[in-house]
Amino acid sequence: MSAVTPPIEAAARPAGRRALWALPLWLSLLFVLGVIVWAQRNDRDEREELRKTMISDALSLEAQLRDRVDEETARLTALAGQLRAARPEPGALGAQPEVAAGLRRLWLSVTWLDPRNRIIAHVPERSPVPQPAVASPQDEPGLSMHLVAPVGSADAPGGMLVARFAPAVLLRRGVPWWLARKYDVQLVDGFDQVIASTADSASRARGDSYRVSFGPSLHDTYLQLTQREAPLPWFRTLPLVLIGGFLLLIGVATALLRRQMHQVMNAEASWRSEAAWRGAMEDSALVGLRARDDQGRLLYVNRTFCDMVGYRADELIGRSPPMPYWPPDAIDEVMWRLRRNLAGQAPREGYEASWRRRDGRSLDVMVFESPLVDANGRQIGWMGSIVDITERKQLEEREHRQTETMAHHARLTMLGEVASTLAHELNQPLMAIASYTTGITNSLQRSGQPDPVVMGALERLGQQAAHAGRIVQRIREFLTRREPQHEACELNQIIRDAVALLQRELQRRGVAVEFALDPALPQVVADQVLIEQVVINLVRNAADALATQAGERRIQVASSPVAAPDLAARFVRIDVVDNGPGIGGHGIETLCAPFYSTKRDGMGMGLAICRSIIEAHHGAFDAAAAPGGGARFSFSLPVIAHANAVLSAQEEASS
Ligand code: ADP
Repeated sequence: MSAVTPPIEAAARPAGRRALWALPLWLSLLFVLGVIVWAQRNDRDEREELRKTMISDALSLEAQLRDRVDEETARLTALAGQLRAARPEPGALGAQPEVAAGLRRLWLSVTWLDPRNRIIAHVPERSPVPQPAVASPQDEPGLSMHLVAPVGSADAPGGMLVARFAPAVLLRRGVPWWLARKYDVQLVDGFDQVIASTADSASRARGDSYRVSFGPSLHDTYLQLTQREAPLPWFRTLPLVLIGGFLLLIGVATALLRRQMHQVMNAEASWRSEAAWRGAMEDSALVGLRARDDQGRLLYVNRTFCDMVGYRADELIGRSPPMPYWPPDAIDEVMWRLRRNLAGQAPREGYEASWRRRDGRSLDVMVFESPLVDANGRQIGWMGSIVDITERKQLEEREHRQTETMAHHARLTMLGEVASTLAHELNQPLMAIASYTTGITNSLQRSGQPDPVVMGALERLGQQAAHAGRIVQRIREFLTRREPQHEACELNQIIRDAVALLQRELQRRGVAVEFALDPALPQVVADQVLIEQVVINLVRNAADALATQAGERRIQVASSPVAAPDLAARFVRIDVVDNGPGIGGHGIETLCAPFYSTKRDGMGMGLAICRSIIEAHHGAFDAAAAPGGGARFSFSLPVIAHANAVLSAQEEASS
């Protein structure tokens, strides 16, 4: 294809391009994977950090609590020292102010045991009525623990002092509030049994925990910190929710993108097939196509155009006038025509132009210009459709020459016939003049004294008449010397050729010719040219008669064998029938009389000549009214066998 449209890529797009729609999805998945890995690492680091903090919190809390217990132990030991000096009786313990202070602080009770572990004194003494006014360690439920201090010395044992205390109170008073909010602080024994806890059992923490031994102060006791709020796993954090949303959106966007790409690809495919169709159609068109911009520069040519002018598309596209196919001797005229066409004044019915092919041969074309409009409806130039009419022009030329030759022949034939008729007509008067001259001369001589001048004049008159007679005789001899060229011929073919010669004239006059030719028509012996003349004359006369006809104008030319009594056809008959005004009751003799014509410029010799030609062929010529109105002119000619018999009979008679 040789167009300004972009070249079509024949192969389909690679598969990679078809999967291009998924690229954003893959990139997004990669991104999300990265974010997940990052979130996981971040989560791990955070947990590690929390654990470290928890360990350090546990250690410092354990140190604080241990200090407190150690302090209580020290006070109990001091109390034991004071009791060592006192008498071991029940009131001695309650009298100690240190005991009351201890009970306010932490202790639940203090018991003094003698070396054989019998109770010497116990504070507070059991009372049936509880004193709930002020919250004291004694109100604290749960397990209790003991602090022990020896009252005597190693060499004089005085028993021991046992202070019972509530570890829950120790925790409540010893654990800072912010730590208690962060952790569930517990004291557990070696069997994992909870001794005391800062949280009630309903709100147990479920995070990481850390356990640290309480050391020698509280044997087999551990301090355990458990994170109150377990950190959310990485996949439940907000960014992950956002990522989920993001993935969803990307999924939707990819689906839309995929649909869009499908549509684009479908549109592209249909555009490509349409372009291929158009290209194939343009290239297979018999009409040359040429697009020009408003300056006459060639924008597009199709293959037919290139074949017409013999130049390749790439040699033509982009060229400005003058074009290489313009005839060099008519550049000015073609330039003028170009300016007219670009101004939008090209004839709508097209115009003829003569171009020059690359090989120098001339090319006749018919050009139809129409506006070239772009996709926005804007006129950007002119589109020309070009039809090669070289052959048609040559045919017309040939036809024209043939018609002229035919007319010339017809004129010559007619002239010959006129001359023949004149000679025939003049012969009689000339003979009469010669006879009268001889008669007058004889009569004057018989009268005795003829005037020599008159006699001389009569003699010259006789000589002139004889001379004229000889001339006429010679002309007749000359005209009758050409014998018709008898040969076997197909009448149907002669008829068709004759009508074909008149075709253009008949078309111009709007006359339709019908044939009713017998395909099995026997051959005849005839002078083809003369018979053709007869048919032409009859058809032309019929067309002349139809010229004034308003309605349908129809001529029928029929051929048929004439059946003879012995069944062998001896003649063929030709009828030329028209639906014109008819012959008005005139007989054949009138119509064929020399110089009879009803036409303004008619000569009146046509039918006379026809009849003499047909009779010279031993045929018959006739005219009659046609059955449906109009005229019917007919002639018959002997078929070949019969004609030969007639000719040989004639030859015999003449020899
Ligand atoms: P011309 O054609 O010169 O008049 P023709 O001898 O051919 O001479 O015709 C003589 C006349 O015969 C015509 O003028 C016309 O009046 C008449 N004639 C011939 N053919 C027809 C026809 N088909 N229909 C009617 N009249 C005809």
